[in-house]
Amino acid sequence: MEGPWEGTMGEQNQPKKEDAGAPLKQIHFCNQCKLEIAEGAKKCHHCGSGQNGWSRFIQIAPVFMIGVAIVQVILGFGQLVLGRSLLLETKRERVLASNALKRAEQAEYTAISVAKNLDKIQVKVEGQAKTINLITTKVEAQAKTIDVITDRVKQKYKEMLHIGGKATIGVEESGEHAGAKD
Ligand SMILES: [Zn+2]
Repeated sequence: MEGPWEGTMGEQNQPKKEDAGAPLKQIHFCNQCKLEIAEGAKKCHHCGSGQNGWSRFIQIAPVFMIGVAIVQVILGFGQLVLGRSLLLETKRERVLASNALKRAEQAEYTAISVAKNLDKIQVKVEGQAKTINLITTKVEAQAKTIDVITDRVKQKYKEMLHIGGKATIGVEESGEHAGAKD
């Protein structure tokens, strides 16, 4: 199953023409496989190697590119190692930064809650101060009441003393009367 290209460009047609036209021709050899090829042939029909400088370059280009690729791989590996250490350092710095941020946020949160608690405490203190004022007012009112009661008690006591005194005098007088009667 040979294609049409290989059939026309193959070793059957061209060498036969040259054999017939020029018997004293110079013999040419492939620069790769060293087998005989047609004069001016750009490609060896044995091994397929190109026969001019440019095709030679194209032939060695893959090898050259592989070499370049190997160098790039080595450089890339170096960069990878460097990049990895940089990445690790960056990650560490990022962790430190995020920890610092978390601490700052916690501190802020604590400050806010402390401020809220202070507000609550202030409200409570104010409420208690009002309660204390009320109690003080009540106590003062009760003290006044007690004073009033004390005054009344004193008054009553004086009155009782007065009445008692009169009663004693009365008892003595009546005793004298009684003694006198006996
Ligand atoms: Zn060849």
